[in-house]
Amino acid sequence: MQKTFSIIKPDAVKSGKAGNILALLESNGFRIVALRMAKLSQSQAEGFYAVHAERPFYGSLVKFMTEGPVILMALEREDAVKKLREVMGATNPANAAEGTVRKLYAESIERNAIHGSDAPETAAQELQYFFNNIELSQL
Ligand code: ATP
Ligand code: MG
Repeated sequence: MQKTFSIIKPDAVKSGKAGNILALLESNGFRIVALRMAKLSQSQAEGFYAVHAERPFYGSLVKFMTEGPVILMALEREDAVKKLREVMGATNPANAAEGTVRKLYAESIERNAIHGSDAPETAAQELQYFFNNIELSQL
């Protein structure tokens, strides 16, 4: 079993798709280990996406990620990191496969409904960024 980190982004929370996305994740074998709603601060969003600080879309991305509540999740399944990226679909919904979260619910390449860690190492870092060890322990 492997854990990964995911965020239902402000666009999908605002449009009332959070429940559908959670159902899709569960039907794809993910167990919800920890879950919390939050409104990210500027510095939390900047730190979380610091890897993109030099990209032209960084300022806009941080503004988007702080515009409204998000749902932070620790998810578990076999091969969780890779499987979540498959269920999410491509960053740009125009390129996302049928049935993926982004094909179904993303509005644009920026407002794309869901985040998922891109490697086991980043999953561990991102889980630690938002959850403490008690929240991440087996229930
Ligand atoms: P995430 O890290 O959120 O799971 P990702 O790994 O598919 O998404 P990244 O390249 O890490 O894609 O980009 C992080 C986020 O930045 C994207 O999910 C999207 O919200 C935004 N983004 C990426 N590329 C662009 C772009 N060209 N224009 C606007 N926003 C973008
Ligand atoms: Mg990414």
